[in-house]
Amino acid sequence: MSGLGKGITAASIGRILKNRSHSITAVKIDPYLNIDAGTMNPAQHGEVFVLSDGGEVDLDLGNYERFLDVDLTGAHNITTGKVYRTVIEKERRGDYLGETVQIIPHITEQIKACITHAAHEPLNNGEPAKICLVEVGGTVGDIESMPFLEAVRQMRSELPKEDTILVHLTLVPGDTMGELKTKPTQHSVKTLRELGLIADIIVGRTHRPIDAGIKKKISAFCDLPQKAVISATTVPDTYYVPMELEKEGIAEVLTEHMGLVSHEPDNEWYSIVSREYTNRVNIGIITKYGIEDVYISIKEALKHAGRALSTEVTIQWIDAERFERVDTKNLDGVLIPGGFGIRGIESKIEAISTVREDKIPFLGLCLGFQLCVVEYARNILGITDATSAEFEGGTPVISIMPDQQSISDLGGTMRLGNYPITLKEGTLASRCYQKDVIIERHRHRYEVDPEYIPALTEKSLIFSGVYQNRMEICELNDHPFFLATQFHPEFRSRPTRPSPPFINFVKACAKR
Ligand code: GLN
Repeated sequence: MSGLGKGITAASIGRILKNRSHSITAVKIDPYLNIDAGTMNPAQHGEVFVLSDGGEVDLDLGNYERFLDVDLTGAHNITTGKVYRTVIEKERRGDYLGETVQIIPHITEQIKACITHAAHEPLNNGEPAKICLVEVGGTVGDIESMPFLEAVRQMRSELPKEDTILVHLTLVPGDTMGELKTKPTQHSVKTLRELGLIADIIVGRTHRPIDAGIKKKISAFCDLPQKAVISATTVPDTYYVPMELEKEGIAEVLTEHMGLVSHEPDNEWYSIVSREYTNRVNIGIITKYGIEDVYISIKEALKHAGRALSTEVTIQWIDAERFERVDTKNLDGVLIPGGFGIRGIESKIEAISTVREDKIPFLGLCLGFQLCVVEYARNILGITDATSAEFEGGTPVISIMPDQQSISDLGGTMRLGNYPITLKEGTLASRCYQKDVIIERHRHRYEVDPEYIPALTEKSLIFSGVYQNRMEICELNDHPFFLATQFHPEFRSRPTRPSPPFINFVKACAKR
């Protein structure tokens, strides 16, 4: 079932193998008909993660990038929509030479081709990975995932045994007496077998470690060695999951089955993600969507920065539609994330006024950047009805980008992915990044209206990062830490390389 942590489990397996010097990539299969996650409502599906190549993908790819320290591409997120679109395009071109086009073999062959293609995409070092993790989303037995599981079955029977390993994640719940129950595992293993898939490793999601007796039981009815039954106990931080699986001996089972050279693990990553906290900051994030999964990359980026600074970041989620004036008494800093649509806008602008006037550390991202410009235009330049063209009425100091004007399709048409940004010397931005040119990921349709740039920069506002004549970063020179970016720095943050705006923001919060 969803929400058990398939993505984190797969990413953790990847980290365990990577710590043993094996190169890893990852593919996420989402069995829905959408071409990609770009058009999906984040309140239902969680964050839309953006890749370097502009792919708008499932949030699990963010976990893969963070755990494995790789840059993935849109090809690494396979959806039913993408598979069917390709097959139908091929059919229209006549590629199938008069055949009747069917789920088996045409869709399954296409799925296999997509997996193989993504697995061979070169990593940052120009070489393809040695091992590819393939996460099949959904639940065993769902209609949607059937063609994918059939493709996986075929791949497994076509390849030598050691070339694939099947890890099945199941829920091992406790009953009212707290005793662990294996029934859900028995049933899902049975359903999997009916599809011709036999698990090599069973990972049981549980609130307390699965004891030897229960492991023996699972091992017996699932027909696998007891050491291949692994407990995945709930931990306070997802970055601890690799360590938990490591303790359970999963590395040995993986290495043995796949015939891998068993290098000594390098445990540096573990010490980075579990560095002790000696300090704490409280950051308010003003949001429109109530669920935290929508802001997972921001949460992770704050955590990366916090670990590097030995500072625990606690987050206070502030509903943009509920508060009157943001109460900054207990906050060390405020963050306004990206978003779409008019809902909650006025409170966010109000909050920006407060942090600007009260000199509270502030980080604005994407929509958060645009609203800083609107607030400044209203309250410093006196354009009292300043707004963004995304909303109705008023004077738009944020307007639609010219190349976006004629676009009518919503899917995959924003300004997406990597663009270089030139930083202005002597600014907060250049102190944060310590570089002249940076690369960050984007996802937006609107920008600072070029007509207003001269007026906007007459006083304390500086556009300290630009791409051609597009404004990418703004800051205030009469404020201890006020930085906002048109791009999304959170998508490039890794535990080993915290994002520069985030680490400097947390540092500023800790100083308060
Ligand atoms: N809605 C704004 C735009 O399209 C901001 C987008 C975002 O925050 N990702 O430009």
